[in-house]
Amino acid sequence: MIIAGCGPTGAMLAAELRLHDVRVLVLEKDTEPVSFVRIVGLHIRSLELMAMRGLLERILERGRQRPAGGFFAAINKPAPEDLDSAHAYLVGIPQPVIVHLLEEHATALGAQIRRGCAVTDFEQDDDGVTVVLADGEQLRTRYLVGCDGGRSTIRKLLGVGFPGEPSRSETLMGEMEVGAPQEEIAAKVAEISETHERFWLRPAGVGVYSVVVPAEGVSDRAKPPTLDDFRQRLRAVAGTDFGVHSPRWLSRFGDATRLAERYRVGRVLLAGDAAHIHPPIGGQGLNLGVQDAFNLGWKLAAQVRGWAPVTLLDTYQAERHPVAEDVLDNTRAQMALLSTDPGAQAVRRLLTELMDFDEVNRHLIEKITAIGVRYDFGAGPDLLGRRLRDIDLKQGHLYGLLRRGRGLLLDRTERLTVDGWSDRVDHLADRSAALDVPCVLLRPDGHVAWIGDDQQDLDDHLSRWFGEPAN
Ligand SMILES: Cc1cc2nc3c(=O)[nH]c(=O)nc-3n(C[C@H](O)[C@H](O)[C@H](O)COP(=O)(O)OP(=O)(O)OC[C@H]3O[C@@H](n4cnc5c(N)ncnc54)[C@H](O)[C@@H]3O)c2cc1C
Repeated sequence: MIIAGCGPTGAMLAAELRLHDVRVLVLEKDTEPVSFVRIVGLHIRSLELMAMRGLLERILERGRQRPAGGFFAAINKPAPEDLDSAHAYLVGIPQPVIVHLLEEHATALGAQIRRGCAVTDFEQDDDGVTVVLADGEQLRTRYLVGCDGGRSTIRKLLGVGFPGEPSRSETLMGEMEVGAPQEEIAAKVAEISETHERFWLRPAGVGVYSVVVPAEGVSDRAKPPTLDDFRQRLRAVAGTDFGVHSPRWLSRFGDATRLAERYRVGRVLLAGDAAHIHPPIGGQGLNLGVQDAFNLGWKLAAQVRGWAPVTLLDTYQAERHPVAEDVLDNTRAQMALLSTDPGAQAVRRLLTELMDFDEVNRHLIEKITAIGVRYDFGAGPDLLGRRLRDIDLKQGHLYGLLRRGRGLLLDRTERLTVDGWSDRVDHLADRSAALDVPCVLLRPDGHVAWIGDDQQDLDDHLSRWFGEPAN
């Protein structure tokens, strides 16, 4: 298996494939790991995935825990207290740290990562894909996954359409210290926000402010912005640069919003930013990519190991494309809510009021954090297709028991079996499990694939997700 691109998506996918002993080579065009620093937010569902793979402690050691709420269009409402997760918070962490942790995890599991190797071309046939590198070297693989970012070479070579809206405005975003007194900042920000979109200075930790300002006039898109660019733009917009200094990280982004028409063409697939791009409002891009990888990994592994039911690989697009569509839409809505247009401001005030209703607030937070995702597995109880939260079992935490990336039957009847699939699916009998259904079958990504108590029905669903039983 070859993965093009060792960003967060590629590194996560490599690790997931290695859990199933699939040989993995990650080709990364950059010779060195990314040196720029951008602090990103890991939302609840991503933290849950990290917990399911034993990475959460390391993430928590290196990141900063923050409340889960206040992310939808930066509307400052606290999250409901009883969100359905054992990890109901956000972790702010530099993106290179996440990539490093995932890379370390993938290599510890046996993935090979080759840097300085840009994929420039490929050709696929019935049996595999021939991948061509910039220096002309050719490599053969059964599947190729493009995790090569928003300007994906793989997507372009596949000829897959990337419809959506082009970037119309550029924004500077960063975290830095500020010399001006807090009251002066608050007054100025309130005044400027009336007339300027995409402008804020907001506390982001002791003495540190998150700064967002339109990038107009800061020319070279190819170069990372400097503190002087921020000073210049702040002076142009606010008449003062607020004495900004000591930047933690500086970045810029456009508002292009696009979604790949297809996630798979034959033996070549797309994941992460290669499949979808959108502005970072709400902080969902990296989360979405890592979750794509988590969805795809076990399915691709099943295909390579030979036990995948015929339609399993197609479920990747069927499940993840609608999730990305929804993220793109909520991002469009959030961008519209940042507009200074009086109509948009009125809608923002109205939504701010509506968020006082618990269900509205909860709905938006479940969207942004991805704990509200429900895949369409057909008719059934509401839990079917959703991820199960981490619960305590007599054998330990559920998520700890999913670490090997296998399926799991959580059986409160203590009389069902997974015989025939025990090489792919674990069986946990626990009459006291905190579930309000008799049994659930979990896929390796923690989503509920079946609910019930009938062995024949269970066997049918084991076949549906895990293929034919072993003899
Ligand atoms: C200012 C800003 C703030 C953000 N904040 C958040 C946030 O809070 N939360 C969040 O979830 N997301 C956030 N994002 C988005 C997030 O950074 C991206 O969604 C994420 O990096 C996507 O990961 P990826 O692995 O899919 O792609 P990338 O990170 O783009 O990785 C792609 C990799 O592929 C390599 N590559 C490219 N072409 C080739 C090739 N031909 N051959 C081999 N290798 C290749 C690249 O060198 C790169 O290493 C933010 C983005 C910006 C700009």
